[in-house]
Amino acid sequence: MTLPEHLTIHEGHLYIGMHDCNDLAKEYGTPVYVTDEEKLRQNFIRYNDALKAHYSDVQLLYAAKANGNLSILKIFASLGAGADVFSSGELHLALLAGIPPEKLLFNGSSKTHDDLRVAVEKGVRISLDSFDELKQLDKIAGELGRIVEVSFRVNPAIDVPTHPKIATGLATSKFGIPADQIVDAYRAALECENVDPVGMHCHIGSQILDVTPFVKEMEVLLKVAGEITKMGVHLKFIDIGGGLGIAYDHEKEVAPTPKEYADAVMPVFIAGIQKLGIKPQLWVEPGRNLVGDTTILLTRVNSVKTSHKKFVNVDAGFNLLIRPAMYGSHHDVIAVGKADEEKTEEYTVTGPICETGDILAENRKLPELESGDVLAILDTGAYGYSMASQYNCRPRCPEVMIFEDRHGIMRRGESVVDIVNTMKRLPWHEK
Ligand SMILES: *Cc1c(COP(=O)(O)O)cnc(C)c1O
Repeated sequence: MTLPEHLTIHEGHLYIGMHDCNDLAKEYGTPVYVTDEEKLRQNFIRYNDALKAHYSDVQLLYAAKANGNLSILKIFASLGAGADVFSSGELHLALLAGIPPEKLLFNGSSKTHDDLRVAVEKGVRISLDSFDELKQLDKIAGELGRIVEVSFRVNPAIDVPTHPKIATGLATSKFGIPADQIVDAYRAALECENVDPVGMHCHIGSQILDVTPFVKEMEVLLKVAGEITKMGVHLKFIDIGGGLGIAYDHEKEVAPTPKEYADAVMPVFIAGIQKLGIKPQLWVEPGRNLVGDTTILLTRVNSVKTSHKKFVNVDAGFNLLIRPAMYGSHHDVIAVGKADEEKTEEYTVTGPICETGDILAENRKLPELESGDVLAILDTGAYGYSMASQYNCRPRCPEVMIFEDRHGIMRRGESVVDIVNTMKRLPWHEK
């Protein structure tokens, strides 16, 4: 297995950066998410540089839903990132992190009246997902005396090779406005008094390991751009969304690099806009590719059992990492203190949740394990903590950041008291 460069093995122990994972597990307890700041920075710079090598006017909007920790948002903000936000909560986080409103795009197919109002008040651009939403936004902006800049989310009707639950640009998807209505949507926006259509937005899905669908997406967007430019829309930005995947199975999978992605997509973009005589900013919304491989989840073995096969029961389950249960995703697993030992056994790694589907990793070759051993679940920086729940009344675990020789808590673990405190006694139950 070739490990990502920030994970190394010294004297049989797995290290993240300069830190022995067994020591981190001891210091912070388990389960715990551990993120490498240096790797976050490298990932951002690599992605940004790859695109800017082709076209200088590129803005990265980090997809905050992949990992919404404020420390992570602040690091990206300091590197010049904007953010793709999908709720008022994420909008709030992005502003708290110091991302300026003009670098944000408020996305979503089902925004509330309050979401729209907050976005207008904060001066954030909005990606509209329906004619109905356009009408509502025009009214809200009018009431607030503002002109709002918007994009429409285009449904490009593209099939992508990924898990069906994370393909978002299919003709049948709930997202976006179909190609045969998109020009009418821009026309309707031009007729609105308080809305200015200046952008075009699209996102075809997640964990895509082939660059071809992104090229097809770009071709669809340029075609629409041609039609609406003729109609009088002055495009300030074209936002191609995120979706570039990462290798999770380090033995079998290869992911295109951001450079390969940029080298495929950017020439098409540049040729297209030159032909149209327009010079929009290019917006890109990577999530997983920036954070996925920066983080490991450390979990301790509670017990080992042999029934029809060997199970290793650990203290993290789909409450903390739902991807395997939800998408059948693969995450590599390393026995932190036995990283050099021969993998003589085959285990299925199961969590503590009262569900048959609570499996983190199935049929994996690992060294012989015993109660107390710590396992690292790799590549858990994207859609890990951000999709965690309190199922089975399990408080969510802490998140730790490392940087060079330092380490610290960037989110404390919850307690059962935190959970209990949100519950109220009903008036008719009071004596
Ligand atoms: C989820 C999402 C992204 C990020 O997707 P990744 O696969 O994590 O890069 C970008 N844009 C939108 C609109 C999204 O919903």
